Amino acid sequence: AQMERDKSHYRFFSPEMNQKAEERFFLVQALGDAIANNRLRLVYQPQIRVQDTRLQGMEALARWTDPKFGAISPARFIPLAEDANLIGQLGEWSLRTACQQMARWIASGSPIHTVSVNLSAIHFHNPELPDLIFRILDETGIPPESLIIEITESTMIDNHEQTIRTARTLRQFGVGMSMDDFGTGFSSLSNLASLPVNEVKIDRSFMNGIERDEKLRKVVRAIIQIGKNLGMTVVAEGIETEQQWRMLRRTECDVIQGFYFSRPLETDEIDAWLARRAPTPPIALAS
Ligand code: C2E
Ligand code: MG
Ligand code: MG
Ligand code: MG
Repeated sequence: AQMERDKSHYRFFSPEMNQKAEERFFLVQALGDAIANNRLRLVYQPQIRVQDTRLQGMEALARWTDPKFGAISPARFIPLAEDANLIGQLGEWSLRTACQQMARWIASGSPIHTVSVNLSAIHFHNPELPDLIFRILDETGIPPESLIIEITESTMIDNHEQTIRTARTLRQFGVGMSMDDFGTGFSSLSNLASLPVNEVKIDRSFMNGIERDEKLRKVVRAIIQIGKNLGMTVVAEGIETEQQWRMLRRTECDVIQGFYFSRPLETDEIDAWLARRAPTPPIALAS
């Protein structure tokens, strides 16, 4: 009876809304199944050192192709997983899968030093997360230094205490902590100074237009300077053009990532990509 009187509830029963809710229900079920049955996959985007253009590491990015719904982007299924209480399982799956892949790269002598894994804010609030990570490092036998955990700037700000405690524990054991999408949240600079992170990733929205916009260029240079002064590795993401790449080479930025160098690669594309771009053995780079 309440619902019939309340307009906002009444609207819930409009056909489109009903269909949306139904679709969401099936999508959540499919996602739960996909995680449980190892039907998500990770793709890996190369991260390039600015100084010598050698490969530094890979960022692992989750992909989901459902037989019925088709390819669904992380922008859609990550929030869904968060809402449906699946994000812990998804995070554990990402961590384990990426660390297993890293172990294979180490075993085969690939020139890949680190793997970066994105974790959601909600997962980061779980006080058992450090134990899970140490268990996975143990299982896979990779050194803690080869794993980097990326969390967004906004994650760093909410639930401060648990987040800081976890980040500090991970840092003490040598695991890398990276602040992702930097510059899009609030009170960025003070957070950067006070949080236990050793890497900062400048959000790709800053790269749009740096070729043309002198002021924006100055902002990006200043952020890079601050990161370097705080002793961090500075990563620029979303480099799409040669001009952006040229501009960043003239800064102290350490690592870049973007479509200009490579899109995220399927695991079976990586060897060919490595062979294509790196004819030089681990000696000097003539460039
Ligand atoms: P992110 O961690 O900031 O990842 C960078 C995103 O930018 C990726 O989108 C990547 O494909 C895209 N990208 C890389 N280079 C370029 C470029 O040059 N230009 C443009 N326009 N885009 C570029 P993707 O894979 O769709 O992931 C979106 C977001 O979803 C990620 O942002 C991350 O926050 C989240 N995500 C992805 N995989 C996972 C995961 O396994 N767990 C969690 N919790 N989040 C994930
Ligand atoms: Mg990321
Ligand atoms: Mg990012
Ligand atoms: Mg992002």
